[in-house]
Formats: sequence, C-alpha cells, structure tokens
Amino acid sequence: IRKRLVIGNWKMHGARPTNATLLTGLCAGVGVAHNCEMVVCAPFPYLGQVSGCLHGSGIGWGSQDISKHQQGAYTGEVSASMLSDFGCQWALVGHSERRSFHCETDQLVAEKAAAALGAGITPVVCVGETQAEQEAGLTQEVIRRQLQPVLALGAESVAKLVIAYEPVWAIGTGLTATPQQAQDVHAFIRAQLTELNVPQVRILYGGSVKASNASSLFAMSDIDGALVGGASLVAEEFLRIAAS
Ligand code: 13P
Repeated sequence: IRKRLVIGNWKMHGARPTNATLLTGLCAGVGVAHNCEMVVCAPFPYLGQVSGCLHGSGIGWGSQDISKHQQGAYTGEVSASMLSDFGCQWALVGHSERRSFHCETDQLVAEKAAAALGAGITPVVCVGETQAEQEAGLTQEVIRRQLQPVLALGAESVAKLVIAYEPVWAIGTGLTATPQQAQDVHAFIRAQLTELNVPQVRILYGGSVKASNASSLFAMSDIDGALVGGASLVAEEFLRIAAS
C-alpha cells in the first residue's frame, strides 16, 4: 500500500550545465525504477530548469524549504502559493541543516508543513537526532518532541505528508545507520502514526544512502524509501537507489 519513494535533495549544489546532464540522465533512465516514485528537490533558482527538464518524465520536483507565511514583508522567503503557481508538488521542511543553521524550531517546522499542505504541496517533514543525543540514549525522546507539533495538525493533514528520518550523525558522514537501527526508529514513528490512524504515511530514511546500501535499508518493513543527498547528484547512482 505504501509506494516506494526516493527523493533527491541537491542541497546547495548545482549549475545549469551540470543540472542539465543530471536531469537528462534521470529522464533517460527512469524506466529502471518503475516501482518507485522519484522526486528531485533543487535550489530555488533551478526549479524552473528542473520542472522543464523533468516534464513528462514522471519524476516529480520540489523545493528544499518553504515559508510558513502566505505573503507579506518577509524578505528572502518563498511562499507555498508561489511554488504551487509553478506546479511544485513537494517541499522539504525541517531538514536538520535548516534546524541547525537557521534555528528552525519544531513548531516552525509544523507551521511550514501546514503552509505547504494549504497550497496542495506535499511536505516531507525531516526529523532526526544528533550524535550527542543518540549517545545519550535520547533518540526516541527527540523524535517524539520533533513530531509532536506536526502530529498535532491532525490525522487529515498528517495523512497527506511524508516523514523523513535522518539521523544527523549519518548525514554526509558516510556513516549510515544500520538497517536495524533505522528500522527501530521507523517502527517507533510508525506506532505514532498508527495511533493517529494514518499507518499509510510513508517514512523515508536519509543519511549516507548509496546504491550499495539502499536494498538492505529498503528490506526493512517500515522503511518506505530514502531521502538522498550526495548520491542524488549523479544520475546513475540515484537511479540505482530508486531501482533497489
Ligand atoms: P547524504 O545522503 O549526503 O548523507 O545527505 C542526506 C540528507 O541530508 C538528505 O536530505
């Protein structure tokens, strides 16, 4: 019932010529991953290029952030309605890099998710503990706290979003959580979704996902796909993950 979903997060990488190569490669190879929904989340200036290149390919696209505000004097912000004006269907919210470098709080992340939903955009709500929190045995406590304001949006809203578990210690470090470590946290999240009567919500794993470890992660019962950073910048690698 939960279709595999693999999302590429380009972070602050890209240039028009290299994007064109990457996107052309994705379009050419998309057939290998027919059982998987694929999405690319690119920096704002490139969303036009991304949507143009991916048009008709079946690969979706989205932003890496979204404002909680609808409009107004918020210099530098981009609203959900502006994104949806261009056909954007996905937005990452609460990525750990936004939480740590831009002081995004759990409450703000939930407000961004609500703003996205209000414009028909699917928010991908990112959660995850730091290395210090993990070592202190606080993983479940942190995940519960991060999810709380999001789950408080109610079942009808939560049913329409996606959750990504990205342990901060596994992001860009080459240290992937073991499939069992990730599964344990996913099961913990699933239990909360089930309590809210939305067990169909997809939970993605993120953190040093590569073609070489994707299959063992996807073999776990509560891992519904991946949020991929570095490996999403190479078409062949990203496609191999999606085909895993
Ligand atoms: P890496 O795949 O580069 O570790 O990044 C994970 C991530 O943060 C995706 O959002």
